[in-house]
Amino acid sequence: MPAAEISASVGRAGVNHPPDVLLVQQVLLARGQTHLVAATGVCDANTIAAIVAFQAAFMRTPDGKIDPGGTTWRHLSSAFTGSSTQAPAPTDTAAGSVTRPVPLPAPNIINQGLVSPGNAFMLQKLGHPLTAQNYSSLCQTPTNPKLRRNLVLDTVGPFRVTGLLPAVLSLKAVMRDIAAAHADIHTALGSAGMLCCRLQRGSSSAISNHSFGTAIDLTLNGELDTYGDGKVQYGLTLIAPIFNRHGWYWGAAFGKEDGMHFEGGKALIETWAADLR
Ligand SMILES: [Zn+2]
Repeated sequence: MPAAEISASVGRAGVNHPPDVLLVQQVLLARGQTHLVAATGVCDANTIAAIVAFQAAFMRTPDGKIDPGGTTWRHLSSAFTGSSTQAPAPTDTAAGSVTRPVPLPAPNIINQGLVSPGNAFMLQKLGHPLTAQNYSSLCQTPTNPKLRRNLVLDTVGPFRVTGLLPAVLSLKAVMRDIAAAHADIHTALGSAGMLCCRLQRGSSSAISNHSFGTAIDLTLNGELDTYGDGKVQYGLTLIAPIFNRHGWYWGAAFGKEDGMHFEGGKALIETWAADLR
């Protein structure tokens, strides 16, 4: 059973009692939702975005709202009580193992021929997502008019994302290939966020590539890969080659392992930037 309970609904059009909002935010943060950086007790747009991203792992049409005793609350509360009985059901017998941590694949077999685009390159190609350049650790919506014109909210495989149009289209192609090669993993995939204008985790100056809507964080059966432990969820090792084939760089190879993270590689950014209207 959950160790705590919310007294009323939280999220979009919810009652949003501050102690309930705080509890929900704390659990979402514990699950590493990238939309959310601090638990404030105030239900803002980032909180709703984090709820929607969390729901996308198991709901066809996320509503951004959590009801006491409802499906979303059961999934969420199982995360912090460690109860396995309330965890999202595995999609099939093999799916239970897709989240198990395994050692990183050898460096010479991942991201072959791909380069992670750094800040200077991204800014040169796409401009500052926030025209005021007031980045913080919190998610903000882009203010750059050209970037805004080229954003799209669309269904990608089993979830919905907001991102840069050519990146979302590419992601659809990646997901089609994943569905064909690994149907069970495709079903288990969810998004913990794509577009989010913020600094990189742990940096006071470097901008995350999520700021441009060209990177995505993935969940498997609603679970995030543990950041920086040098291991990755087994399922990620099966889909990474497909992302790589489409020109997406896998964050597992970053200095601090970020296995949930995939981003358009340097060559893709070049193409995508040329495609913008
Ligand atoms: Zn990421």
